[in-house]
Amino acid sequence: MLDKVVIANRGEIALRILRACHSLGIRTVAVHSTVDRNLKHVAMADESVCIGPPPSGQSYLDMPAIIAAAEVTDAQAIHPGYGFLSENADFAERVEQSGFIFIGPKAETIRLMGDKVEAIRAMKDAGVPCVPGSGGPLGDDAATNIKIAREIGYPVIVKAAGGGGGRGMRVVHTEAALSNAIATTKQEAKAAFGNDMVYMEKFLENPRHVEIQVLADGQGSAIHLGERDCSMQRRHQKVVEEAPAPGITPELRAEIGQVCVEACLRIGYRGAGTFEFLFEDGRFYFIEMNTRIQVEHPVTELVTGIDLIREQLLIAAGEKLSIRQEDVVLRGHAIECRINAEDPDTFMPSPGLIQHFHAPGGPGVRVDSHVYEGYRVPSNYDSMIGKLIVHGPDRETAICRMRVALSEMVIDGIKTNIPLQARIMRDRGFQDGGQNIHYLEKRLAERREKSLTIG
Ligand code: ADP
Repeated sequence: MLDKVVIANRGEIALRILRACHSLGIRTVAVHSTVDRNLKHVAMADESVCIGPPPSGQSYLDMPAIIAAAEVTDAQAIHPGYGFLSENADFAERVEQSGFIFIGPKAETIRLMGDKVEAIRAMKDAGVPCVPGSGGPLGDDAATNIKIAREIGYPVIVKAAGGGGGRGMRVVHTEAALSNAIATTKQEAKAAFGNDMVYMEKFLENPRHVEIQVLADGQGSAIHLGERDCSMQRRHQKVVEEAPAPGITPELRAEIGQVCVEACLRIGYRGAGTFEFLFEDGRFYFIEMNTRIQVEHPVTELVTGIDLIREQLLIAAGEKLSIRQEDVVLRGHAIECRINAEDPDTFMPSPGLIQHFHAPGGPGVRVDSHVYEGYRVPSNYDSMIGKLIVHGPDRETAICRMRVALSEMVIDGIKTNIPLQARIMRDRGFQDGGQNIHYLEKRLAERREKSLTIG
Protein backbone atom coordinates (compact mmCIF):
# COMPACT_ATOMS: atom_id res chain seq x y z
CA MET A 1 0.00 0.00 0.00
CA LEU A 2 1.05 3.62 -0.42
CA ASP A 3 2.51 5.23 2.63
CA LYS A 4 2.34 8.96 1.93
CA VAL A 5 0.61 10.97 -0.81
CA VAL A 6 1.02 14.58 -1.91
CA ILE A 7 -2.30 16.21 -2.74
CA ALA A 8 -1.50 18.57 -5.61
CA ASN A 9 -4.76 20.47 -5.53
CA ARG A 10 -6.92 22.69 -3.34
CA GLY A 11 -10.51 23.12 -2.18
CA GLU A 12 -13.12 20.42 -2.00
CA ILE A 13 -11.26 17.84 -4.10
CA ALA A 14 -8.13 18.15 -1.96
CA LEU A 15 -10.27 17.44 1.10
CA ARG A 16 -11.98 14.53 -0.67
CA ILE A 17 -8.60 12.99 -1.57
CA LEU A 18 -7.35 13.52 1.99
CA ARG A 19 -10.37 11.66 3.38
CA ALA A 20 -9.83 8.73 1.01
CA CYS A 21 -6.14 8.58 1.93
CA HIS A 22 -6.75 8.69 5.66
CA SER A 23 -9.42 6.01 5.50
CA LEU A 24 -6.81 3.75 3.85
CA GLY A 25 -4.22 4.66 6.48
CA ILE A 26 -2.19 6.69 3.99
CA ARG A 27 -0.49 9.81 5.31
CA THR A 28 -1.02 13.07 3.45
CA VAL A 29 0.95 16.11 2.40
CA ALA A 30 -1.02 19.24 1.50
CA VAL A 31 0.66 21.68 -0.85
CA HIS A 32 -0.86 25.13 -0.91
CA SER A 33 -0.41 28.71 -2.01
CA THR A 34 0.04 31.51 0.52
CA VAL A 35 -3.60 32.56 0.30
CA ASP A 36 -4.69 28.95 0.92
CA ARG A 37 -2.99 28.28 4.23
CA ASN A 38 -6.38 28.27 5.95
CA LEU A 39 -7.87 25.56 3.77
CA LYS A 40 -9.54 22.79 5.72
CA HIS A 41 -7.44 19.97 4.29
CA VAL A 42 -4.23 21.87 5.06
CA ALA A 43 -5.18 21.78 8.73
CA MET A 44 -6.09 18.09 8.52
CA ALA A 45 -3.08 16.88 6.51
CA ASP A 46 -0.18 15.17 8.26
CA GLU A 47 2.18 17.68 6.70
CA SER A 48 1.85 20.78 4.59
CA VAL A 49 4.16 22.69 2.29
CA CYS A 50 3.60 26.22 1.01
CA ILE A 51 4.53 26.14 -2.67
CA GLY A 52 4.12 29.73 -3.74
CA PRO A 53 2.03 32.85 -4.11
CA PRO A 54 -1.70 32.85 -5.01
CA PRO A 55 -1.51 32.88 -8.84
CA SER A 56 -1.81 29.21 -9.86
CA GLY A 57 1.02 29.60 -12.38
CA GLN A 58 3.34 30.16 -9.43
CA SER A 59 1.88 27.51 -7.12
CA TYR A 60 -0.60 24.81 -8.19
CA LEU A 61 0.87 24.73 -11.71
CA ASP A 62 4.48 24.92 -10.57
CA MET A 63 5.72 21.40 -11.36
CA PRO A 64 9.18 21.66 -9.76
CA ALA A 65 7.67 23.11 -6.56
CA ILE A 66 5.20 20.23 -6.25
CA ILE A 67 7.79 17.57 -7.00
CA ALA A 68 10.15 19.22 -4.50
CA ALA A 69 7.39 19.02 -1.88
CA ALA A 70 7.17 15.27 -2.51
CA GLU A 71 10.95 15.01 -2.15
CA VAL A 72 11.27 16.93 1.11
CA THR A 73 8.38 15.06 2.72
CA ASP A 74 9.54 11.69 1.45
CA ALA A 75 6.15 10.94 -0.14
CA GLN A 76 5.63 8.18 -2.66
CA ALA A 77 2.86 9.42 -4.87
CA ILE A 78 1.15 12.56 -6.14
CA HIS A 79 -2.61 12.88 -6.62
CA PRO A 80 -3.41 15.71 -9.06
CA GLY A 81 -7.19 15.92 -8.44
CA TYR A 82 -8.98 17.67 -11.32
CA GLY A 83 -8.03 20.85 -13.17
CA PHE A 84 -4.53 22.29 -12.59
CA LEU A 85 -1.95 19.62 -13.61
CA SER A 86 -4.31 16.66 -13.66
CA GLU A 87 -4.29 16.28 -17.45
CA ASN A 88 -0.78 17.54 -18.07
CA ALA A 89 1.22 14.72 -19.65
CA ASP A 90 4.53 16.50 -19.05
CA PHE A 91 3.77 16.69 -15.34
CA ALA A 92 2.88 12.99 -15.16
CA GLU A 93 6.13 12.22 -16.93
CA ARG A 94 8.23 14.42 -14.65
CA VAL A 95 6.60 12.96 -11.56
CA GLU A 96 7.48 9.43 -12.66
CA GLN A 97 10.96 10.44 -13.81
CA SER A 98 11.55 11.88 -10.34
CA GLY A 99 10.72 8.49 -8.87
CA PHE A 100 7.16 9.14 -7.67
CA ILE A 101 3.88 7.53 -8.63
CA PHE A 102 1.51 9.74 -10.60
CA ILE A 103 -2.02 8.82 -9.50
CA GLY A 104 -3.58 8.60 -12.92
CA PRO A 105 -2.91 7.06 -16.31
CA LYS A 106 0.44 6.81 -18.02
CA ALA A 107 1.79 10.08 -19.48
CA GLU A 108 1.40 8.72 -23.01
CA THR A 109 -2.32 8.05 -22.43
CA ILE A 110 -2.83 11.58 -21.13
CA ARG A 111 -0.97 12.93 -24.16
CA LEU A 112 -3.07 10.86 -26.54
CA MET A 113 -6.35 12.00 -25.01
CA GLY A 114 -5.19 15.61 -24.77
CA ASP A 115 -4.99 15.76 -28.53
CA LYS A 116 -8.62 15.50 -29.52
CA VAL A 117 -7.87 14.59 -33.12
CA GLU A 118 -5.67 11.70 -31.99
CA ALA A 119 -8.13 10.74 -29.25
CA ILE A 120 -11.02 10.51 -31.69
CA ARG A 121 -8.89 8.49 -34.09
CA ALA A 122 -7.91 6.05 -31.33
CA MET A 123 -11.48 5.73 -30.09
CA LYS A 124 -12.83 5.16 -33.58
CA ASP A 125 -10.27 2.39 -34.05
CA ALA A 126 -11.41 0.90 -30.75
CA GLY A 127 -15.01 0.80 -31.94
CA VAL A 128 -16.30 3.76 -29.94
CA PRO A 129 -19.05 5.67 -31.81
CA CYS A 130 -17.88 9.20 -32.68
CA VAL A 131 -19.50 12.33 -34.13
CA PRO A 132 -19.26 12.31 -37.94
CA GLY A 133 -16.39 14.64 -38.76
CA SER A 134 -13.22 15.47 -40.64
CA GLY A 135 -11.44 12.52 -39.05
CA GLY A 136 -8.26 14.59 -38.87
CA PRO A 137 -6.90 18.13 -38.76
CA LEU A 138 -8.12 20.73 -41.24
CA GLY A 139 -5.64 22.10 -43.75
CA ASP A 140 -5.52 25.57 -45.28
CA ASP A 141 -7.16 24.67 -48.57
CA ALA A 142 -10.60 26.33 -48.55
CA ALA A 143 -12.02 24.12 -51.29
CA THR A 144 -11.11 20.93 -49.40
CA ASN A 145 -12.62 22.26 -46.20
CA ILE A 146 -15.82 23.23 -47.99
CA LYS A 147 -16.00 19.72 -49.41
CA ILE A 148 -15.53 18.18 -45.95
CA ALA A 149 -18.26 20.38 -44.49
CA ARG A 150 -20.66 19.49 -47.32
CA GLU A 151 -20.10 15.81 -46.72
CA ILE A 152 -20.70 16.21 -42.99
CA GLY A 153 -23.68 18.50 -43.60
CA TYR A 154 -24.35 21.87 -41.93
CA PRO A 155 -24.34 22.98 -39.20
CA VAL A 156 -20.77 21.95 -38.38
CA ILE A 157 -18.56 22.83 -35.43
CA VAL A 158 -14.89 23.75 -35.77
CA LYS A 159 -12.94 22.66 -32.70
CA ALA A 160 -9.40 23.12 -31.47
CA ALA A 161 -7.49 19.82 -31.17
CA GLY A 162 -5.84 21.11 -28.01
CA GLY A 163 -8.98 22.76 -26.64
CA GLY A 164 -10.54 22.34 -23.23
CA GLY A 165 -12.94 23.86 -20.76
CA GLY A 166 -15.51 24.55 -23.46
CA ARG A 167 -13.20 26.99 -25.25
CA GLY A 168 -11.90 26.95 -28.81
CA MET A 169 -15.07 25.99 -30.65
CA ARG A 170 -17.17 27.68 -33.30
CA VAL A 171 -20.45 26.61 -34.87
CA VAL A 172 -20.82 27.24 -38.60
CA HIS A 173 -24.23 27.28 -40.26
CA THR A 174 -23.38 28.26 -43.83
CA GLU A 175 -20.70 27.68 -46.40
CA ALA A 176 -20.13 31.45 -46.65
CA ALA A 177 -19.04 31.57 -43.01
CA LEU A 178 -16.81 28.50 -43.06
CA SER A 179 -13.37 29.79 -44.06
CA ASN A 180 -13.53 32.73 -41.69
CA ALA A 181 -14.64 30.50 -38.83
CA ILE A 182 -11.75 28.11 -39.40
CA ALA A 183 -9.24 30.97 -39.54
CA THR A 184 -10.58 32.60 -36.38
CA THR A 185 -10.72 29.34 -34.42
CA LYS A 186 -7.13 28.60 -35.49
CA GLN A 187 -5.95 31.99 -34.28
CA GLU A 188 -7.75 31.61 -30.98
CA ALA A 189 -6.48 28.08 -30.51
CA LYS A 190 -2.92 29.20 -31.18
CA ALA A 191 -3.24 31.99 -28.60
CA ALA A 192 -5.07 29.93 -25.96
CA PHE A 193 -3.53 26.47 -26.32
CA GLY A 194 -0.32 27.11 -28.26
CA ASN A 195 -1.55 24.74 -30.96
CA ASP A 196 -3.51 25.92 -33.97
CA MET A 197 -4.67 22.50 -35.10
CA VAL A 198 -8.45 22.43 -35.61
CA TYR A 199 -10.88 19.78 -36.81
CA MET A 200 -14.51 19.67 -37.86
CA GLU A 201 -17.51 17.75 -36.58
CA LYS A 202 -21.19 17.60 -37.29
CA PHE A 203 -22.85 20.03 -34.87
CA LEU A 204 -25.52 18.07 -33.03
CA GLU A 205 -28.39 20.46 -32.44
CA ASN A 206 -30.11 19.09 -29.37
CA PRO A 207 -27.90 16.54 -27.67
CA ARG A 208 -27.72 15.55 -24.05
CA HIS A 209 -24.37 15.16 -22.30
CA VAL A 210 -24.05 11.61 -21.03
CA GLU A 211 -20.73 10.24 -19.82
CA ILE A 212 -19.48 6.81 -18.79
CA GLN A 213 -17.27 6.31 -15.72
CA VAL A 214 -14.58 3.65 -16.02
CA LEU A 215 -11.98 2.09 -13.75
CA ALA A 216 -9.02 0.15 -15.13
CA ASP A 217 -6.01 -1.32 -13.37
CA GLY A 218 -3.66 -1.25 -16.34
CA GLN A 219 -3.10 -4.96 -15.71
CA GLY A 220 -5.77 -6.35 -17.97
CA SER A 221 -8.94 -5.52 -16.05
CA ALA A 222 -11.43 -2.72 -16.65
CA ILE A 223 -15.03 -2.07 -15.63
CA HIS A 224 -17.60 0.64 -16.21
CA LEU A 225 -19.73 2.19 -13.48
CA GLY A 226 -22.64 3.32 -15.58
CA GLU A 227 -23.35 6.82 -16.75
CA ARG A 228 -23.97 10.36 -15.56
CA ASP A 229 -26.18 12.95 -17.20
CA CYS A 230 -24.56 16.39 -17.15
CA SER A 231 -26.85 18.21 -19.56
CA MET A 232 -27.69 21.08 -17.20
CA GLN A 233 -24.94 23.43 -18.37
CA ARG A 234 -24.23 27.10 -18.65
CA ARG A 235 -21.52 28.21 -21.06
CA HIS A 236 -20.40 24.58 -21.41
CA GLN A 237 -19.95 24.41 -17.64
CA LYS A 238 -21.85 21.70 -15.80
CA VAL A 239 -24.26 23.01 -13.16
CA VAL A 240 -26.20 19.89 -12.10
CA GLU A 241 -25.25 16.24 -12.65
CA GLU A 242 -27.11 13.03 -12.00
CA ALA A 243 -26.84 9.27 -12.15
CA PRO A 244 -28.29 7.28 -13.75
CA ALA A 245 -29.21 9.33 -16.83
CA PRO A 246 -33.00 9.48 -17.29
CA GLY A 247 -34.22 7.12 -19.99
CA ILE A 248 -31.03 5.11 -20.48
CA THR A 249 -32.10 1.46 -20.45
CA PRO A 250 -29.99 -1.25 -18.82
CA GLU A 251 -29.36 -2.69 -22.29
CA LEU A 252 -28.10 0.62 -23.70
CA ARG A 253 -25.94 1.16 -20.59
CA ALA A 254 -24.42 -2.30 -20.83
CA GLU A 255 -23.75 -1.86 -24.53
CA ILE A 256 -22.00 1.55 -24.38
CA GLY A 257 -20.31 0.59 -21.11
CA GLN A 258 -18.82 -2.50 -22.72
CA VAL A 259 -17.57 -0.44 -25.66
CA CYS A 260 -15.75 1.88 -23.20
CA VAL A 261 -14.31 -1.06 -21.27
CA GLU A 262 -12.93 -2.56 -24.46
CA ALA A 263 -11.45 0.79 -25.48
CA CYS A 264 -9.73 1.04 -22.07
CA LEU A 265 -8.19 -2.42 -22.47
CA ARG A 266 -7.09 -1.63 -25.99
CA ILE A 267 -5.24 1.57 -25.08
CA GLY A 268 -3.89 0.10 -21.84
CA TYR A 269 -5.79 2.59 -19.73
CA ARG A 270 -4.95 2.83 -16.02
CA GLY A 271 -6.97 4.53 -13.29
CA ALA A 272 -10.32 6.29 -13.21
CA GLY A 273 -11.53 7.88 -16.43
CA THR A 274 -14.57 9.26 -18.16
CA PHE A 275 -15.78 8.84 -21.70
CA GLU A 276 -17.83 11.92 -22.57
CA PHE A 277 -20.58 11.49 -25.13
CA LEU A 278 -23.23 13.59 -26.73
CA PHE A 279 -26.45 11.58 -26.76
CA GLU A 280 -29.05 12.32 -29.40
CA ASP A 281 -31.93 10.26 -30.79
CA GLY A 282 -30.90 7.24 -28.76
CA ARG A 283 -27.30 7.24 -30.00
CA PHE A 284 -23.99 7.98 -28.32
CA TYR A 285 -21.31 10.13 -29.97
CA PHE A 286 -17.89 10.25 -28.29
CA ILE A 287 -16.48 13.77 -27.83
CA GLU A 288 -13.58 13.33 -25.44
CA MET A 289 -12.06 11.32 -22.65
CA ASN A 290 -11.10 12.82 -19.31
CA THR A 291 -8.12 11.01 -17.87
CA ARG A 292 -8.72 12.05 -14.25
CA ILE A 293 -11.28 12.09 -11.48
CA GLN A 294 -14.15 14.43 -12.30
CA VAL A 295 -16.03 16.99 -10.22
CA GLU A 296 -19.25 14.99 -10.56
CA HIS A 297 -17.81 11.62 -9.49
CA PRO A 298 -19.89 11.49 -6.26
CA VAL A 299 -23.19 10.76 -8.05
CA THR A 300 -21.62 7.57 -9.38
CA GLU A 301 -20.28 6.76 -5.93
CA LEU A 302 -23.73 7.11 -4.40
CA VAL A 303 -25.52 4.86 -6.90
CA THR A 304 -22.76 2.21 -7.04
CA GLY A 305 -21.47 2.35 -3.47
CA ILE A 306 -17.92 2.41 -4.87
CA ASP A 307 -15.39 4.94 -3.54
CA LEU A 308 -13.69 6.12 -6.72
CA ILE A 309 -10.77 7.91 -5.07
CA ARG A 310 -10.05 4.84 -2.95
CA GLU A 311 -9.96 2.81 -6.16
CA GLN A 312 -7.60 5.34 -7.75
CA LEU A 313 -5.25 4.95 -4.79
CA LEU A 314 -5.41 1.15 -4.87
CA ILE A 315 -4.72 1.07 -8.61
CA ALA A 316 -1.79 3.49 -8.16
CA ALA A 317 -0.44 1.17 -5.46
CA GLY A 318 -0.30 -1.55 -8.09
CA GLU A 319 -3.26 -3.58 -6.92
CA LYS A 320 -5.47 -5.43 -9.32
CA LEU A 321 -9.08 -4.31 -9.65
CA SER A 322 -11.06 -6.21 -7.03
CA ILE A 323 -14.48 -5.21 -8.39
CA ARG A 324 -15.90 -7.27 -11.23
CA GLN A 325 -18.42 -5.91 -13.70
CA GLU A 326 -21.16 -8.07 -12.21
CA ASP A 327 -20.47 -6.52 -8.79
CA VAL A 328 -21.47 -3.10 -10.11
CA VAL A 329 -25.15 -2.69 -9.32
CA LEU A 330 -26.89 0.67 -9.60
CA ARG A 331 -29.11 1.53 -6.65
CA GLY A 332 -31.54 4.47 -6.70
CA HIS A 333 -30.76 7.91 -8.04
CA ALA A 334 -28.22 10.60 -7.16
CA ILE A 335 -28.08 14.31 -8.00
CA GLU A 336 -25.26 16.80 -7.52
CA CYS A 337 -25.62 20.58 -7.40
CA ARG A 338 -22.40 22.55 -7.78
CA ILE A 339 -22.29 25.35 -5.24
CA ASN A 340 -20.50 28.39 -6.63
CA ALA A 341 -19.50 31.66 -5.00
CA GLU A 342 -21.25 33.78 -7.59
CA ASP A 343 -24.26 36.00 -8.11
CA PRO A 344 -27.19 33.66 -8.94
CA ASP A 345 -28.48 36.05 -11.59
CA THR A 346 -25.44 37.74 -13.15
CA PHE A 347 -22.98 34.88 -12.45
CA MET A 348 -20.35 37.41 -11.35
CA PRO A 349 -17.87 35.75 -8.96
CA SER A 350 -18.48 36.63 -5.32
CA PRO A 351 -15.38 35.94 -3.24
CA GLY A 352 -15.13 37.06 0.37
CA LEU A 353 -15.64 36.10 3.98
CA ILE A 354 -18.18 33.42 4.89
CA GLN A 355 -19.89 34.77 7.98
CA HIS A 356 -22.29 31.92 8.62
CA PHE A 357 -22.20 28.39 7.36
CA HIS A 358 -24.65 25.58 8.00
CA ALA A 359 -24.44 22.31 6.11
CA PRO A 360 -27.65 20.40 5.38
CA GLY A 361 -28.09 16.82 6.55
CA GLY A 362 -30.48 13.91 6.75
CA PRO A 363 -30.78 10.61 4.88
CA GLY A 364 -28.94 10.49 1.58
CA VAL A 365 -27.37 13.95 1.89
CA ARG A 366 -23.65 14.46 1.27
CA VAL A 367 -21.74 17.74 1.36
CA ASP A 368 -18.33 17.83 -0.31
CA SER A 369 -17.00 21.23 0.61
CA HIS A 370 -13.95 22.78 2.21
CA VAL A 371 -15.66 25.94 3.43
CA TYR A 372 -16.53 26.79 7.02
CA GLU A 373 -17.63 29.77 9.06
CA GLY A 374 -14.86 32.38 9.00
CA TYR A 375 -13.32 31.02 5.79
CA ARG A 376 -12.47 33.61 3.17
CA VAL A 377 -13.10 32.54 -0.43
CA PRO A 378 -10.11 33.87 -2.39
CA SER A 379 -10.61 35.57 -5.74
CA ASN A 380 -7.72 33.72 -7.34
CA TYR A 381 -9.37 30.43 -8.21
CA ASP A 382 -12.48 28.79 -9.60
CA SER A 383 -15.72 29.93 -7.97
CA MET A 384 -16.88 26.42 -7.02
CA ILE A 385 -16.87 26.19 -3.24
CA GLY A 386 -18.47 22.81 -2.86
CA LYS A 387 -20.98 20.26 -4.02
CA LEU A 388 -24.24 19.19 -2.52
CA ILE A 389 -25.06 15.61 -3.45
CA VAL A 390 -28.18 13.63 -2.58
CA HIS A 391 -29.21 10.03 -3.03
CA GLY A 392 -32.69 8.54 -2.97
CA PRO A 393 -34.50 5.37 -3.99
CA ASP A 394 -35.73 7.10 -7.14
CA ARG A 395 -35.26 10.37 -9.04
CA GLU A 396 -38.34 12.04 -7.60
CA THR A 397 -37.23 11.39 -4.03
CA ALA A 398 -33.72 12.58 -4.86
CA ILE A 399 -35.11 15.87 -6.23
CA CYS A 400 -37.24 16.33 -3.08
CA ARG A 401 -34.22 15.66 -0.88
CA MET A 402 -32.14 18.13 -2.88
CA ARG A 403 -34.85 20.79 -2.52
CA VAL A 404 -34.89 20.36 1.26
CA ALA A 405 -31.09 20.22 1.47
CA LEU A 406 -30.72 23.43 -0.56
CA SER A 407 -33.26 25.18 1.65
CA GLU A 408 -31.30 24.11 4.74
CA MET A 409 -27.92 25.18 3.45
CA VAL A 410 -26.74 28.55 4.76
CA ILE A 411 -23.72 30.36 3.32
CA ASP A 412 -23.81 34.00 4.43
CA GLY A 413 -21.43 36.83 3.64
CA ILE A 414 -20.94 35.98 -0.03
CA LYS A 415 -23.39 35.36 -2.84
CA THR A 416 -23.90 31.80 -4.02
CA ASN A 417 -25.86 30.08 -6.76
CA ILE A 418 -28.03 28.22 -4.22
CA PRO A 419 -31.14 30.20 -5.32
CA LEU A 420 -30.50 29.15 -8.93
CA GLN A 421 -30.11 25.51 -7.92
CA ALA A 422 -33.36 25.72 -5.95
CA ARG A 423 -35.14 27.07 -9.02
CA ILE A 424 -33.74 24.27 -11.18
CA MET A 425 -35.01 21.67 -8.69
CA ARG A 426 -38.49 23.25 -8.90
CA ASP A 427 -38.41 23.51 -12.68
CA ARG A 428 -40.97 21.33 -14.46
CA GLY A 429 -38.66 20.54 -17.38
CA PHE A 430 -35.86 19.43 -15.08
CA GLN A 431 -38.33 17.33 -13.12
CA ASP A 432 -39.41 15.63 -16.35
CA GLY A 433 -35.75 14.66 -16.95
CA GLY A 434 -33.80 14.10 -20.14
CA GLN A 435 -33.43 17.75 -21.17
CA ASN A 436 -30.70 18.66 -23.65
CA ILE A 437 -27.56 20.75 -23.09
CA HIS A 438 -29.26 23.98 -24.19
CA TYR A 439 -32.19 23.71 -21.81
CA LEU A 440 -30.77 25.63 -18.86
CA GLU A 441 -29.46 28.51 -20.99
CA LYS A 442 -32.84 28.76 -22.69
CA ARG A 443 -34.65 28.92 -19.36
CA LEU A 444 -32.19 31.53 -18.09
CA ALA A 445 -32.72 33.64 -21.22
CA GLU A 446 -36.50 33.41 -20.81
CA ARG A 447 -36.15 34.47 -17.22
CA ARG A 448 -34.02 37.45 -18.14
CA GLU A 449 -36.60 38.50 -20.70
CA LYS A 450 -39.60 38.12 -18.48
CA SER A 451 -37.81 38.65 -15.16
CA LEU A 452 -39.91 35.72 -14.02
CA THR A 453 -38.98 32.79 -11.82
CA ILE A 454 -37.97 29.49 -13.34
CA GLY A 455 -40.60 26.82 -12.85
P1 ADP B 1 -14.01 20.71 -23.88
O1 ADP B 1 -12.81 19.83 -23.80
O2 ADP B 1 -13.64 22.14 -24.13
O3 ADP B 1 -14.95 20.53 -22.75
P2 ADP B 1 -15.77 19.14 -25.59
O4 ADP B 1 -15.35 18.51 -26.85
O5 ADP B 1 -15.97 18.24 -24.43
O6 ADP B 1 -14.74 20.30 -25.24
O7 ADP B 1 -17.10 19.95 -25.84
C1 ADP B 1 -17.64 20.79 -24.84
C2 ADP B 1 -19.10 21.05 -25.11
O8 ADP B 1 -19.28 21.66 -26.40
C3 ADP B 1 -19.96 19.82 -25.15
O9 ADP B 1 -20.37 19.40 -23.86
C4 ADP B 1 -21.13 20.32 -26.00
O10 ADP B 1 -21.96 21.16 -25.20
C5 ADP B 1 -20.46 21.19 -27.02
N1 ADP B 1 -20.11 20.42 -28.23
C6 ADP B 1 -18.90 19.89 -28.53
N2 ADP B 1 -18.94 19.21 -29.70
C7 ADP B 1 -20.20 19.32 -30.18
C8 ADP B 1 -20.88 18.84 -31.35
N3 ADP B 1 -20.27 18.09 -32.28
N4 ADP B 1 -22.19 19.13 -31.49
C9 ADP B 1 -22.83 19.87 -30.55
N5 ADP B 1 -22.25 20.36 -29.44
C10 ADP B 1 -20.95 20.09 -29.23
